[in-house]
Amino acid sequence: MLGAMVKSYYAEKTGIDAADMRVVSVMPCTAKKFEALRPELSNHGNQDVDEVITTRELAKMIRAAGIDFANLPDEDFDRVMGESTGAGVIFGATGGVMEAALRFAYEAITGKELEKVDFEAVRGLDGVKEAEIDLGVMKLNVAVAHGTANAQKVLDSIRSGEKHYDFIEVMCCPGGCVTGGGQPIVKSTVRAEKNVSALRAKALYSEDVGKARRKSQDNEEIKALYQDYLGEAGGERAHHLLHTHYTARDKYAGVR
Ligand code: SF4
Repeated sequence: MLGAMVKSYYAEKTGIDAADMRVVSVMPCTAKKFEALRPELSNHGNQDVDEVITTRELAKMIRAAGIDFANLPDEDFDRVMGESTGAGVIFGATGGVMEAALRFAYEAITGKELEKVDFEAVRGLDGVKEAEIDLGVMKLNVAVAHGTANAQKVLDSIRSGEKHYDFIEVMCCPGGCVTGGGQPIVKSTVRAEKNVSALRAKALYSEDVGKARRKSQDNEEIKALYQDYLGEAGGERAHHLLHTHYTARDKYAGVR
């Protein structure tokens, strides 16, 4: 989504031709290397994302260049689209996408300000988390699964008619992106003593608490993006640039 926005909105704002841009995404996920190649994720033949490197690869480059990363001074992200909220930060932990969506859904559905933004019921490392979220005007049944075996359990329970959910989050990697396939590898001796998923998730939730804005809908730059460029949420331009569809992966057999 960011790649699509960089090569349209940002290109327009800065007067840089999208054809002259190279978008490099740093990701916790090896699967994103494949995803960036999908023809559906392009605009007029220009891929939204040109290169994907994993966080592990970035870490190796930083080390190889002799950069003392831990002691670099903090710096704000560049404008445009440099603002982020706590809701964006927690995407990395299982349940984080669900929680960010609930922070939005509450205000969108009720029209009231959400005062307590923490939805503890969807946090933690249980394989399948379920919650009934009472919005006052309605109740939402939600489920969060991480790891494909847990996703299978959720899907089976829906197919059998045992369960009904209004919204489901699935993360393929156990723990979510914090322990994604492209993340720095932690030695087994350390893993034997520490729960890496839990520690990384804890770091994200504490970053979220420290953010001035914790709901996606409070991101001023996103508001400006919709107001000045995308128009209505789900409208034609937003649909064209931000939505996609999926086809069976065997279609890409042989794509490198
Ligand atoms: S959960 Fe794993 S596969 Fe899914 S986006 Fe995150 S790192 Fe990639």
